[in-house]
Amino acid sequence: MKQVSLKDLAGTSWDVVIVGAGPAGTTCANYLLRSGHAVLLVDTERFPREKPCGDVLGPIACRELERLGLLNQLQSIGTAIPGITCISPRGTEINLAGSWLSVKRSSLDELLLSSVPAKPGRFGFALGRLVCKPGEGSLPLCDTSEIERSLGIKCLFAVWAAGCRTSSGAKKTTGPTPGRGKAVAVQRYLESTYRLPQLYVKYNRALMPGYFWIFPSHRTPSGTFLYNVGCGAPLWRLQKKGLRLSRVLKEQIETDAMGSRLLDTGGYTSSLRSGIINTDFQLQPPGQSSNVAIVGEASGTTLPFTWEGIGPAMQSGRIVAGALSVAPGGDLTISGRGNGAKGFREMRKRHQQFTWLERFFSRPWLTDVLARRIVESDHLKSVVTASLQGDRSPTAFIRPGTLLKSLFR
Ligand SMILES: Cc1cc2nc3c(=O)[nH]c(=O)nc-3n(C[C@H](O)[C@H](O)[C@H](O)COP(=O)(O)OP(=O)(O)OC[C@H]3O[C@@H](n4cnc5c(N)ncnc54)[C@H](O)[C@@H]3O)c2cc1C
Repeated sequence: MKQVSLKDLAGTSWDVVIVGAGPAGTTCANYLLRSGHAVLLVDTERFPREKPCGDVLGPIACRELERLGLLNQLQSIGTAIPGITCISPRGTEINLAGSWLSVKRSSLDELLLSSVPAKPGRFGFALGRLVCKPGEGSLPLCDTSEIERSLGIKCLFAVWAAGCRTSSGAKKTTGPTPGRGKAVAVQRYLESTYRLPQLYVKYNRALMPGYFWIFPSHRTPSGTFLYNVGCGAPLWRLQKKGLRLSRVLKEQIETDAMGSRLLDTGGYTSSLRSGIINTDFQLQPPGQSSNVAIVGEASGTTLPFTWEGIGPAMQSGRIVAGALSVAPGGDLTISGRGNGAKGFREMRKRHQQFTWLERFFSRPWLTDVLARRIVESDHLKSVVTASLQGDRSPTAFIRPGTLLKSLFR
């Protein structure tokens, strides 16, 4: 989809301007257009663009894609991943079946954009950067008046879907402030003649609840295999240990049995890229009278150490779109009833579960105990598999009752 210059749109009016055309912004645009709103999507990058992102779509993302009618198309261009190997800090290996999808991030973004029901005059996609004043606390200040001042465009409602790239062009940064609610991840691509069909995750004591990963990407035309290798950790963990993630990744690949096997049979095809992940939950409760909403990575609704970034980002875009309604007087506002309120509760609950998981996986010894129990108990193994696939609560396998049952079954 072609991006027009913002200059060509100067003085135009829209129902909603969405800042950021990642999975959250495009999903939000898709649902808003379906419900008859006129939407302008603005991104500072020219699409299609590459982005450091693990390329792996989990069950939440797949469900959101299915709702948009895109799952079959993605399955035909992506690589199905049938399972995962997890290694605990003390080396216990667990193999679990499941279904994930590996898709190049640029292909996912392109497909999401192409699925937007773009009617002339009702949808615009522009290249431009919103420059706005720093907000109070960690929230960006990008309301409708900021949009008009910065972009020269009028709108009734603004959606901030700018991911975790917090610099808005203003002197100070907007968006989430550094601190506990942030994580950082680095990754690069590696090509090898060795075939690893499943996801590979190794819990490294120094990074926990973060981990080191090797994710299969796709088979290259020359018959070799491309892998996404990387690691991530909360910022507080790195600061506490004085660690540099780039160095941890290098050491991890060279010392890990699978990492060194891939290196021995191949080599890197890209340089190191990094990205920040926001884990501070900031999705506004529906019903608040405001003309701006924040979605996706920027709202901290993503779950970095429990597999999902893209899925919850899309989910929050859909929730905000579903919660928007016309107020008396013609303004747009977030309704506090129906699907919006239900969706918000669901996202808040998931985030709470994520916080519990983060605490659990911050303790290497607990992770080791869990790993040993999984190896010994078919019951626990099936609960973990169902949790990873989204068929049970993400925390089902760390409930005391489940762990107790695992001693007998
Ligand atoms: C190394 C790494 C690996 C990851 N691996 C995975 C993975 O395997 N699976 C997974 O599900 N998730 C993964 N994630 C997380 C995933 O990348 C994010 O959850 C996801 O991109 C969030 O989508 P979003 O739409 O909220 O934001 P983004 O995808 O970041 O989109 C935001 C958009 O806003 C634009 N923008 C920013 N500021 C402005 C501005 N001022 N004006 C205009 N436009 C602006 C940006 O150019 C960008 O296109 C990974 C993240 C990192 C860093």
